[in-house]
Amino acid sequence: MTTAETSSNSWHSIDELATAVRSCTACGLHSTRTNAVPGSGSSKAEILIIGEGPGFNEDQQGLPFVGRSGKLLDELLAAIPLTREDVFITNVVKCRPPDNRDPLPDEVAACRPYLERQMELTDPKVVVTLGRVSMLRFHPKGKISEDHGKILEWEGRILFPLFHPAAGLRNPAIKRELQQDVLKLPEALRQAHGVSSVNNDDEINGEVDTSAPNSLVTQQDRKLNEDKEELEQENNNRPSSQTADAPIDDGQLSEPLLKNETTKEEKGDRQLGIF
Ligand code: URA
Ligand code: SF4
Repeated sequence: MTTAETSSNSWHSIDELATAVRSCTACGLHSTRTNAVPGSGSSKAEILIIGEGPGFNEDQQGLPFVGRSGKLLDELLAAIPLTREDVFITNVVKCRPPDNRDPLPDEVAACRPYLERQMELTDPKVVVTLGRVSMLRFHPKGKISEDHGKILEWEGRILFPLFHPAAGLRNPAIKRELQQDVLKLPEALRQAHGVSSVNNDDEINGEVDTSAPNSLVTQQDRKLNEDKEELEQENNNRPSSQTADAPIDDGQLSEPLLKNETTKEEKGDRQLGIF
């Protein structure tokens, strides 16, 4: 049998790799998929975003994050501001686990060469992981409740773990954490470029160093300041039990969605066990 491992050197581009993924039979997930989901976005992006695995909508369309989680992801990116063309988005496993269950260790292992090669081909400055499973792939001892929003280092790249957007859809406090965490992504990118912001107060006062080599960073700084102010304003107007500072424990993150919270549309999205 040809495994993904033995062929990995022959994928010379993201498109070639995508073609291989679409006909891959290296693990059991191939037999239940409608479409494999190799990934989408710019292969030259400095930011690689990694989810866990395709859900119903992604399996139907062959594209990552096209359901409700994807809509929230788009909103989070827009706050920086980034679009899908500014990033590359993929998943730990490229085929949908049935019933949106967690991918099994042997499925993650079988699919690993694809993610590794995507990492080599895109050569991102910052790797953003969404949810626990994706973070553990790079940071096996990590705890998503503690490490979300931290700027970490992984094999010469910046690792930036975030909660999974599906967790944000279930829990407003997690959504607010996501909204705050994502505002640190420009700083993560700056650190990856070796340009760390010297004084955060300056940033909040709008005195950003416009001589920064990357215009994207400067553009993001302005939006970052506006968003920070908006979020602070929002939190000031909220009872303290509802602020993003309210502690979130890991137990809460693995609680199943209440039945009456599930809308028809949500059923297709990955909801359970992904945090
Ligand atoms: N959740 C994921 O982890 N990945 C997707 O592509 C969609 C939802
Ligand atoms: Fe191949 Fe990955 Fe799909 Fe398994 S999940 S069949 S290894 S592409």
